[in-house]
Amino acid sequence: MRCEECGDKLDRFVDRELTNTEALEIQLHLEGCPDCMEHYEFQEHLKRLVKHSCDCDVAPQAFRDKLRQILS
Ligand SMILES: [Zn+2]
Repeated sequence: MRCEECGDKLDRFVDRELTNTEALEIQLHLEGCPDCMEHYEFQEHLKRLVKHSCDCDVAPQAFRDKLRQILS
């Protein structure tokens, strides 16, 4: 699997919306690809942050810096 393809499916992987086969492919790719693993961890972090946004509407500075870094 190419990183591009992994990136396309990462959203759905984080949301557990992929089929078992697809999820396994992503898992295997992440284990061998630190770049995609970092994106995955970021997405997970983002998801948790969104989930808890009711009691914390301001993202920590470090997180916002990282977000800017990834989006730029
Ligand atoms: Zn990759």
